[in-house]
Amino acid sequence: MKDNKIAATIQVDMDPLWSQLEYYGHSGEIHPDVFYETGLPRFLDLFRKNNVKATFFVVGKDAENKHKKELLKQIREEGHEIANHSFSHPLGLSSLPKKEIETEVRKAENAIKKITGMKPAGFKAPGWDLSSKLLDILEENNYVYDASLLPTFTILPIYLFERIFGRKKLNQFHGPNLSSGFAPLHPYTPSIDSIEKIGEREIVEIPNTVVPIFRFPYHSSPVFLFGLNFFRVSYFLTRKRHLPLNYEFHLIDLADNIADRRIPSYRLPPLEKRMRICRFIVKALVNDYRIVTSRDLAEEFKPR
Ligand SMILES: [Zn+2]
Repeated sequence: MKDNKIAATIQVDMDPLWSQLEYYGHSGEIHPDVFYETGLPRFLDLFRKNNVKATFFVVGKDAENKHKKELLKQIREEGHEIANHSFSHPLGLSSLPKKEIETEVRKAENAIKKITGMKPAGFKAPGWDLSSKLLDILEENNYVYDASLLPTFTILPIYLFERIFGRKKLNQFHGPNLSSGFAPLHPYTPSIDSIEKIGEREIVEIPNTVVPIFRFPYHSSPVFLFGLNFFRVSYFLTRKRHLPLNYEFHLIDLADNIADRRIPSYRLPPLEKRMRICRFIVKALVNDYRIVTSRDLAEEFKPR
């Protein structure tokens, strides 16, 4: 029965090539941006073929870029949702002063509005960096939902992954708080005192899906690393718990492999393998869940 299916949403984090370079300590505006030019058309194609409406989290600076505007318009034309992923993709967003976080949210919002004609309904912080301060700002600016929460205590494997594959030092690392591991695994309205508890806020938090109990993330990047069997087991455990699902991809996932030694994450599997994995995941989700945009999922969980 189609209507009895549990809701799921598919999110694409649109980190551009320049943000990856900045992440590894380099700078420079890049054109053409191989992530946008090659990754985005493949995602649109994958979603079109599977009749999926996804949610793309766009960095505001890219929405102002004349080369990227047309590509972004296409997302909208194909009926997907465009949401806010900050203006300049700063790592450690939540440690910035309130005024600066607000500028990041508002500037991106204005740039996205110029493309879609609509105020974005949702926000995702770079690096899953959620805080009460951020939720306050999003509520003051009438956001329907936030998707910055990665409810995991497995911060250590993520750190090791970054240390080994990203060659990051500890002080360069930003990510979810340890307390995130105690948050619910389904969309909820957080409490004002503690983001990990269900409470009186208006905004809906849509956590990124992790393996129940173990709380290990299994979005695309760990699946590329550990393989499809890792996805199969994690996904099976999520389904057994009848949990709504929020599956996260990154723009880089379907981009051409390029040889840029400055970015260690280019030691990604070959494109063919990544495409196979992404196709498998999307097909599984379409088969087992009712796929909705993140805005629609948030509306379902909003208290009446
Ligand atoms: Zn990002």
